[in-house]
Amino acid sequence: MRLPQFTYHSPDTLEGVLALLDEHRDNAGVLAGGTDLLVRMKHRLAVPKVLVSLKHLDTLSYIKETSEMVSIGAKTPIIDVIRSNRVQQQAPALGQACERIGAVSIQHFRGTIGGNILQDNRCIHYNQSQFHRTGRQPCHKDGGKICYAREEADRCNSTCQSDGAAALMALGAQLNLCSSKGERQVSLDAFYTTDGIHPFDMQPDELLTRIDIPIVPGAVSVYQRLSFRSAIDYPIVCAGVRLVPDPDDAGCIKSARIVVGAMGRSPLFLAKVSQSLAGKRFDDIAAVAQAGKDAMNTAAAFAAHNAGAALPYRQAMVETMVIRALELAAAQASMKIAR
Ligand SMILES: Cc1cc2nc3c(=O)[nH]c(=O)nc-3n(C[C@H](O)[C@H](O)[C@H](O)COP(=O)(O)OP(=O)(O)OC[C@H]3O[C@@H](n4cnc5c(N)ncnc54)[C@H](O)[C@@H]3O)c2cc1C
Ligand code: SF4
Repeated sequence: MRLPQFTYHSPDTLEGVLALLDEHRDNAGVLAGGTDLLVRMKHRLAVPKVLVSLKHLDTLSYIKETSEMVSIGAKTPIIDVIRSNRVQQQAPALGQACERIGAVSIQHFRGTIGGNILQDNRCIHYNQSQFHRTGRQPCHKDGGKICYAREEADRCNSTCQSDGAAALMALGAQLNLCSSKGERQVSLDAFYTTDGIHPFDMQPDELLTRIDIPIVPGAVSVYQRLSFRSAIDYPIVCAGVRLVPDPDDAGCIKSARIVVGAMGRSPLFLAKVSQSLAGKRFDDIAAVAQAGKDAMNTAAAFAAHNAGAALPYRQAMVETMVIRALELAAAQASMKIAR
């Protein structure tokens, strides 16, 4: 399959990248590792006339830590995130999510953390060759008026299948976006729009430069996911959790963040279910079981039949993923207390 024609630029500076994005706006595509974008271009799902490569922007590849946060440059390779001691200590859920991304070749050679959370939403009915798609009526995402994933849907329900996004949302991460007009910060909770066609709150002239993960004293975090194959496969359901212990009673949960991924147009931060764990003990099996059930019931409403496994199965497995993640996080917390 051939790439469509495009003009290629690889500026040496951030200012150069931002100027090109400003000039070409909707006609431009940012090229990080290309493992998502180039595949979509080959299928004619994205046809940018201008590609702006981040190849020479090594200043966007780093992992730093202050007393308040771990900051990761958008162009940092996935393998650097996996190997980072800082990530393993302060944000283990992110390291676990990155270990599950795609294949070793994607993690080692091309895939970046920025590209991971900005990959387009996916749908088995849409992420197909142009030949396949032209054989039938276009769906909403292709400019038509129907949806093959959910009967009578009036909008696109394509699924966010990014591993990194669900983990980072559970960790309460913030993004730093830059344009030639300035920069702004946005929490991941607000960044995902729940629109299957335009899934991000991001302007065409903006570049993701940095991801900030807050350091919360004593917090534990875990990521769990399910996919058909152990490699070269996207999650069909996943869960990220962060639990913060009560400073006055380390056996007790002060606050929780539970996020379910690959079940909707964006990762789902389950605020009510998370809140239900505040004040509970880490080893409260009944509370964890109830949270798993509530997570399943809440997330079930958002998923469409478009991620390669039967919908009832994916819905049922939300409970398992959330309970597993909570149990592993509780075990981490009790190990910390024992130390
Ligand atoms: C076979 C296969 C299996 C995969 N499995 C998984 C998986 O299991 N889990 C998973 O999460 N992903 C998976 N992926 C998707 C993808 O490989 C990874 O998410 C990867 O991390 C994307 O990073 P990249 O740098 O290659 O992104 P690119 O393809 O370079 O970029 C992705 C999108 O983000 C935009 N972009 C990138 N960086 C920036 C930036 N700094 N600012 C603004 N826009 C930007 C690009 O324009 C593009 O639209 C898989 C891909 C393949 C081909
Ligand atoms: S969810 Fe529906 S509209 Fe969206 S890409 Fe899939 S088939 Fe098309």
